[in-house]
Amino acid sequence: MRTDRDLHGLGVPGAPHPSGRPSAVEPSNAVEPSNKVPIVDRRMLLSLLSIGAAEALLAACSASASSAPGGQPSAPNTPREAPAGPAAAGMVAAAPGQPLPPIPPPHPGPAHPTFHAPGRTQQIALTIDDGYDPQTVAGYVEFAQRSKIPITFCPNGAYRQIWDQHAPALRPLIEAGQVQIGNHTWTHHQLPGRSDADIRADVEKNEEWIQKTFGITSRPWFRPPYGAHNQHVDGVVAEMGYPRILLWNGSFGDSTQLTPDQLIGLATRYLQPGTIMLGHANHPTVLGLFDRIQQLIAERHLQPVTLDTMFGTSRATG
Ligand SMILES: [Zn+2]
Repeated sequence: MRTDRDLHGLGVPGAPHPSGRPSAVEPSNAVEPSNKVPIVDRRMLLSLLSIGAAEALLAACSASASSAPGGQPSAPNTPREAPAGPAAAGMVAAAPGQPLPPIPPPHPGPAHPTFHAPGRTQQIALTIDDGYDPQTVAGYVEFAQRSKIPITFCPNGAYRQIWDQHAPALRPLIEAGQVQIGNHTWTHHQLPGRSDADIRADVEKNEEWIQKTFGITSRPWFRPPYGAHNQHVDGVVAEMGYPRILLWNGSFGDSTQLTPDQLIGLATRYLQPGTIMLGHANHPTVLGLFDRIQQLIAERHLQPVTLDTMFGTSRATG
């Protein structure tokens, strides 16, 4: 069996960076990361190769940026205005925010790796991870505010100095149900091979920060760093109240620095009905593409939703 890993000779993910930032490109693992080696659709792979960026485009959370958290952002890339008009797909009603419910207790259950929407739907879920570039985090928050598009953020508390300043802007969106927060660990170190206690501590520390900062629980959604997980990891986090193992079946590929053409090429390919789309608030390339992404969503009559909406989970239930 030939896999993307075989074809590209990609090694194992690099050792975690002490700061919590990933330090090397990880295997792409195609579009459905799992503990099993995936079988890659050959046409898809060839298409990816044809745009010259197969190795890392779909990888989760790898990093090549030089800017450290709190460091100098890259060259300015001012977000453009969103397409005008109320017909843009994905807009949610500007309902007044509801007071956030009390944080519910954990509800452990069998682990359920999740790659895409259940059943046929026009819904998509934009899931945006990490957040080690201040400019990109700010740009995503502003995009959520002006576009009204539902987004699920999976930030690492290791980057709290970047995220915390946006809590006042994000809280009303969270209260309105437009923004959801998932758990992606505090450190962003990969989990397989670590002790149960270490895994629990990493997840719990991030949850405590999320609760304190955003007033909401991240349960039951857990996105493993790098998409690296196995039955053991899944079992540990499911027992903690994170039975929803959040994976994906489409990606902006922006865990590494892309050109705008590469990123929009992947957006065009993967923004399809039912997609759980993976993106990262790590590189500013996406900032100049928000209007084109919004246009794609509108043209295709896609309906962006949070994971809670897509799967009927609830922050009130946890
Ligand atoms: Zn990540």
